[in-house]
Amino acid sequence: MNIKSLKDWSVQDSVDLYGIEQWGAGNFAISEDGKATVSIPSSQGDIHVALPEIVKAAQERGHALPLLLRIENLLDSRIKLINESFREAIQETGYQGHYNGVYPIKVNQQKAVIEEIKRYGKNYSLGLEAGSKAELMICLANLDEGGLLICNGYKDREFIDLGLWAVKLGYRCFFVVESPSELPLIFERSQALGIKPFIGLRIKVSAKVGGLWTETSGDRSSFGLSTAQLTATVDELRREGMLDCLQLLHCHLGSQIPDIREIRAGVREASRFYTDLATEGVPLHYLDLGGGLAVDYIGNQSTHSHSRNYQLSEYCRCLTSTIKETLDQKKIPHPIIITESGRATVAHTSILLFDILDVMRYEPQNLPECLPESSHPLVVRQYQIHCEAKQVDLVEGYNEALSHRDQIRHLFRDGKINLRERATAENLFLAIAQELRERLDQSRQLPPELLELQQSLADIYYGNFSVFQSLPDTWAIGQIFPVMPIHRLQEAPTRQASISDLTCDCDGKLDHFILADGEHPTLPLHPFKPGEEYILGVFLMGAYQETMGDLHNLFGDTNVISVRINEDSSFDVTREQSGDTISEVLAILEYNPSTFQDNFRSKIEKAVKLGKINVAERQMLLSRFNHCLNDHTYFNTNNLN
Ligand code: PLP
Repeated sequence: MNIKSLKDWSVQDSVDLYGIEQWGAGNFAISEDGKATVSIPSSQGDIHVALPEIVKAAQERGHALPLLLRIENLLDSRIKLINESFREAIQETGYQGHYNGVYPIKVNQQKAVIEEIKRYGKNYSLGLEAGSKAELMICLANLDEGGLLICNGYKDREFIDLGLWAVKLGYRCFFVVESPSELPLIFERSQALGIKPFIGLRIKVSAKVGGLWTETSGDRSSFGLSTAQLTATVDELRREGMLDCLQLLHCHLGSQIPDIREIRAGVREASRFYTDLATEGVPLHYLDLGGGLAVDYIGNQSTHSHSRNYQLSEYCRCLTSTIKETLDQKKIPHPIIITESGRATVAHTSILLFDILDVMRYEPQNLPECLPESSHPLVVRQYQIHCEAKQVDLVEGYNEALSHRDQIRHLFRDGKINLRERATAENLFLAIAQELRERLDQSRQLPPELLELQQSLADIYYGNFSVFQSLPDTWAIGQIFPVMPIHRLQEAPTRQASISDLTCDCDGKLDHFILADGEHPTLPLHPFKPGEEYILGVFLMGAYQETMGDLHNLFGDTNVISVRINEDSSFDVTREQSGDTISEVLAILEYNPSTFQDNFRSKIEKAVKLGKINVAERQMLLSRFNHCLNDHTYFNTNNLN
């Protein structure tokens, strides 16, 4: 990619380069002075708040980077957008039922997120979905009477009892039966407690969807009833005199479904199930179509697994019109539509912010003016290519230099070349590669042999974060999140880099980036200036990342703050959560911090006895050790001072 020269660079170039207008969905922009901003609509037009200002406010409150930032307004606006879009679609298509959204809490169960969903979601009677007993308990504590509660997943006796009591308390709590074996326990507990359940049946639709979660749909999907099981279960409910409990039909085609045509096919099939069950006299009122509403992480509106080829309004119209058309054929009353949109609700609200600690550059150092006479002929030949690098044929010059470099490494292994000669030869190779790359930047077409040259010379920027803790999907499923610097955006980003995290793991890296012109293995970044903070943001990462993260290398939770942006462009820090300390992380692994301290104390006491350290040194060491236990797990730049 050609980067304009430093003096011609403008903020608009950064907007165009990083693709913020494509993936940002209007929520992010860049200010005149080159800072990434979060944009919130207000009665006076859009309000823009600079992310570096929010970072500063967090740091002043003692929350160092890395920092997980939640913008509450963005969560609210997503809830509003989804609900208003369904309202409009219902009006436009003449749908006779209404929409009742449900938030599947597995997507982000953090208290701050759930409480904001509860507070703002009240405007739209937003319900919750639980997939386990622990999640059910969060839902029960947060929903109000009359609230819609969908219980998916395996349900033991305690789960069922809690759900039945919830019905008695006035919640619309549905047990979604995923397998025929669940029914007997529901009958038994219902009889024992004298509470009639609300029952939903999850069906397997045969229509398959693309994307990363294609296995969620189709005959071999893990969850849901086959058609034969479905009809048998309906018959059983009828026999038991409990058909009136069966009010909901459920299906979940998959998460992040990129293609609207596949959604339409799945919804049509689910609607056909609904129609025929209703025709048989099953008193259904709700059609729950699960999750799947995709987020356009790469902003190109395509059927790529990280994108989607539809807008939210089209998704809503697709659901309402497909259900309507299918049910109208048999004059079935239109049900309440439920969707369980997880990522589309919470992805936009969170940004991971981290600082760069260091950079590795693949550049020659101390190139020799001339070579010693005793130099090996291969090193001499490498020197000649270096001198001719401006004229040699690009591919030929590169291939020859690469082959010399590899032969020189062999010779070193065989003891035929010494360390200094190898260093000189490798420096020369880097110099040649750099020269050729500069020529590549000016040529229009990249010869295929040289595709990897850019990548092999890219810098490595070391970031103060853990992929495994904060962005596990980038490692586990190759998820791409938009990444860009949050300041210096009025300057040309003249370096190309991949990003390495703090873990000692080669998988702990970001090397797949989205820019306006597509996917790239490197990200354009600004030259790192030691001693100056350089902060990158990972956007759209509010879904699935937090609870799925792990403690690899014992990097724990980062600091977290939530902010609310006000109409006057000020912002309030509404919640603060300090990241894990080292002793908290150790306690998770069953190390008792006080035993730990005692063990260390007795070791250094022994060292005093043996005369290895004096008592003053012992005291200093002990206090450092204790201080460290209470420190956070990430790189603490204050330790440098
Ligand atoms: N509902 C169910 C049953 C799910 O399994 C999932 C996730 O896979 C969701 C809803 C959320 O899906 P999404 O995040 O795509 O909206």
